[in-house]
Amino acid sequence: MNIVFCGSKVNLRRLEFTLTTQCNSQCIHCQAEASPLRKDVMNVKNAHNYLMEATAVSNLESFMVFGGEPMLYPERAIAILEKAKQLGIPKIEMITNGFWGGDKERARRLAERLKVAGLNEVNVSVDVFHVQHIPVECPWNAAVSLLNAGIDNVKWNVAIVESMDAENKYDKRTRQILEKLEPTGIPINFVKIIPAGCAVENLYEFFEHEPLHGPCIGDPILGNPLKNPESICIEPSGEVDVCWHLSIGNVKKTSLSRIIREYDWHKSPVIKILVEDGPLGLLNLVEANDFEFQESCFINKCHMCMEIRKISAFRSCV
Ligand code: SF4
Ligand code: SF4
Repeated sequence: MNIVFCGSKVNLRRLEFTLTTQCNSQCIHCQAEASPLRKDVMNVKNAHNYLMEATAVSNLESFMVFGGEPMLYPERAIAILEKAKQLGIPKIEMITNGFWGGDKERARRLAERLKVAGLNEVNVSVDVFHVQHIPVECPWNAAVSLLNAGIDNVKWNVAIVESMDAENKYDKRTRQILEKLEPTGIPINFVKIIPAGCAVENLYEFFEHEPLHGPCIGDPILGNPLKNPESICIEPSGEVDVCWHLSIGNVKKTSLSRIIREYDWHKSPVIKILVEDGPLGLLNLVEANDFEFQESCFINKCHMCMEIRKISAFRSCV
């Protein structure tokens, strides 16, 4: 049973942590804009507090650690997973690029520790973009080590540009990589790349343009509704997001339980506009002189929403 507070519009079922914005890789499609140059990392004490507060006000069904690359900080990742297990969260997930499979013996040891810590679902990223930075043997060894450690739910996390039948150079190369991985028997989770982060600049020509009018219908990956979010993601900065960098508070300023309890989409000018009018309405919050709106530049509503929310003229207005 989920606990729903009087007046609360958050019915939390899922919690995600961006453990770090840092990554050993710098994929051209990275929607999180992670890179070796970014250094933000969540500390374990804070992470434990967030987990305890979230579980105190909700019955979480799932928890996920991702990044950046969470296994750049294996000790922190393991300590956080252990807490999630101790708090009784049933589904404990991670997305990793598997770089840590480069050394088979170390991969075996890490996988066993991850299993003991409570990890029970792992998406190992591998596709044309990742292999430019990480040899395919690394995710292969990492995924096999996880399976051998007893984590049954391991999948390849595969980013596709158009579709698995498409003839563009990226999807074609990804098909070849997947053929190479076939002997592992590991199932594949295809994820269509959305126009966010580095993907916008590097893959712009591959995105189909969609209408920009209409209200927000929930985030492009989880479909998280803004009126009653069921999932939040906490960044190392403390921002609590209900969609792509769409914050409803900062846990370094306000307790997570209070953010959850007091969330009301009517009270946030930005979220109210997104729910009622959609991202086009955000233009009313930007000084006309500071932003030249060119409809044709935007791929879809979410692309436009993220771009408008990035501009400093917008931030100073809200
Ligand atoms: S491995 Fe993942 S997080 Fe790292 S740069 Fe590539 S897509 Fe981004
Ligand atoms: S329109 Fe904005 S808030 Fe709504 S799903 Fe897209 S990015 Fe998220």
